[in-house]
Amino acid sequence: MRTWCEIDTAALAENVRSFRRLVGDTTLAPTVKSNGYGHGLLLAARAFLEGGADWLCVDALDEARALRQAGLTCPIYVFGYVPLADLAEVVSLDCRLVVYNRETIDALAALGAPVRIHLKIETGNHRQGVGPEEAVALAALAARATGLTIEGVSSHFANIEDTTDHTYARRQLAVFEGAVAALRAAGHAVPMRHLSNTAAALLWPDQRFEMVRIGVGAYGVWPSKEARVAALLAGRRELALQPALTWKTRIAQVKSVPEGAFVGYGCTYMCTHPTRLAILPVGYADGYDRGLSNLAHVLIRGRRAPIRGRVCMNITMVDVTDIPDAALEDEVVLLGAPAVDGERLTADQVADWAQTISYEIMARIGAHLPRVPVTGSASATAPDPLARAYRLPRT
Ligand SMILES: *Cc1c(COP(=O)(O)O)cnc(C)c1O
Repeated sequence: MRTWCEIDTAALAENVRSFRRLVGDTTLAPTVKSNGYGHGLLLAARAFLEGGADWLCVDALDEARALRQAGLTCPIYVFGYVPLADLAEVVSLDCRLVVYNRETIDALAALGAPVRIHLKIETGNHRQGVGPEEAVALAALAARATGLTIEGVSSHFANIEDTTDHTYARRQLAVFEGAVAALRAAGHAVPMRHLSNTAAALLWPDQRFEMVRIGVGAYGVWPSKEARVAALLAGRRELALQPALTWKTRIAQVKSVPEGAFVGYGCTYMCTHPTRLAILPVGYADGYDRGLSNLAHVLIRGRRAPIRGRVCMNITMVDVTDIPDAALEDEVVLLGAPAVDGERLTADQVADWAQTISYEIMARIGAHLPRVPVTGSASATAPDPLARAYRLPRT
């Protein structure tokens, strides 16, 4: 293998166990959308179930189909759009489906088969969902249709992990509770309410309702610095989340270039001294963001090597002048922890360099790259410097 991801499946399972201790018997539904946040759909799904997950969430029907084809029988909740023409497969795959338009209800009703739906309430994110009044109308429509059961009501926060001020999120929560009350007043049972993502599950223990849909936290990564600070300020028990992904490649060539030489497309880097470069067989087509050009570092023999020049489609150049023993085929860590003790490159660090968030860095790691399950890798055991620095005394 020349570029691959090692996935610590024990860490994934352990993260789910940590959330279980936090949420008690609330239905725990980690999401494996986007190739399991880059960890590999099936690796993540199996590890989460091993850790005691009750349900799995996916975005698209394709993901649900892959889970069923792999033999998974757990409840699956599809929370992304399913085209009307594909709705029969929701039934044949035995999935729960988010619903937020009349057309979907009509098309499901026309199938005449039993299917459990979850209404999506618009509470202020202004993406998927309908307002409380329309939700009551949809519920009435669903109640008249044969086969349809309203199993749940959901929503999604717009502004909970990007800030330590949760006024907007509290307003969304109030709209959500109003919608549930309106549905119940109209005579509809609402067995399951759910709107907590990772940040809400961590921050608001009283508002977990019947189910939580956790994502990034199950992969061992905090949603944001703000969420982490807010949790600590609120006196939450520090959750020992374990990152599970290490993205690796190998040195394909080592070469010496003279002072004054330019590196890469656009000649954006000029060597200020005689330089040893290592050439890496990874690039933006693999999900290694071009925004990391001349900015990020990788780890070679446990030491940092800075990127020189632009990240290419399939190739990246790094400076190993100060790592004299760096050699052909040495393992290179792009993200995560090396097998030997040393520094860890967190998804948050790489995201900062690329001016984005950890979610995007992980989700965009090319699905074509092999995911190799490992257990008890350094990523699971390496101490988290932030946790040490910010641990508050227990009260
Ligand atoms: C991705 C997603 C989640 C999980 O969000 P995290 O911030 O990763 O915990 C929950 N619900 C919905 C609808 C989502 O799209």
